[in-house]
Amino acid sequence: MKKTKRTSSSLKLRSEVHSNNYLKSSSQKKGTPLPAIDILKLEMKRFHPEESSQFQIRFTNNSSTLASKSYKSGRVSLRVQKIFKEAPPEILALLVSFLFLPKNTNDSRAAKKALLDFVANCPRSPRLRTKSRPPQDPEGAYYHLEMLRDELLSIHFPEMKDPPTIGWTSKIQKRVMGKWLETPKGETNWIFINRLLDRLDVPELYVRYVVYHELLHEVFPTYREGGRWIRHSPEFREKERQFPQLEIARKWEIEHLNAVYLAATKKN
Ligand SMILES: [Zn+2]
Repeated sequence: MKKTKRTSSSLKLRSEVHSNNYLKSSSQKKGTPLPAIDILKLEMKRFHPEESSQFQIRFTNNSSTLASKSYKSGRVSLRVQKIFKEAPPEILALLVSFLFLPKNTNDSRAAKKALLDFVANCPRSPRLRTKSRPPQDPEGAYYHLEMLRDELLSIHFPEMKDPPTIGWTSKIQKRVMGKWLETPKGETNWIFINRLLDRLDVPELYVRYVVYHELLHEVFPTYREGGRWIRHSPEFREKERQFPQLEIARKWEIEHLNAVYLAATKKN
């Protein structure tokens, strides 16, 4: 769950910017994007215009190295984590830029950051996240997340069999108040709640609302439609509206959350 912002220009996610540059020619079905492998080859051509037929790209399951480049017997060869198979064109372009640009330039750093953001936000990358530890710490100074979760479960989700493990983030975060993470099949999913909210000046109603929102992700899975991940489907939003005092919680968020963040991070 992200903090509500009143300006929208800078909020646009990179992955939502759809580029038309890679649509197939008019003889093919209009609007069908090229496969990732073709986009990668086109991007590589910008760095190696002379070797367009010599590119080799392999998708891997490697979860520690997302992408690497090597030169083998005159060929440029990329190994790319298969999560990028479903990446939008601009992410693939950044991936190639990152691999081919000199390291430690601003452009290379910016590309790296955008790529890591993409991976972190990709709902089908459970195995890439397992480096992070499951939520450890449900008991905060003011709010006990397991107790809040269980209360919400009994009221709103009595049928949920294997509820997510819930805990506070280790550090205060600025933008993301709650995060639901899908773990590999058969394992309990995770919910992290921003430690920022474990404060006396954050009303319980708001914490409950954030936990409720994240529990909804357990019920309404993310899916892909038209090249985009849909996290908050109409059914999700419909059920969200059933949260008691939803408007009060959202109003509090808009009016007070920034001040709480500033108070929590103020250096004495
Ligand atoms: Zn959400």
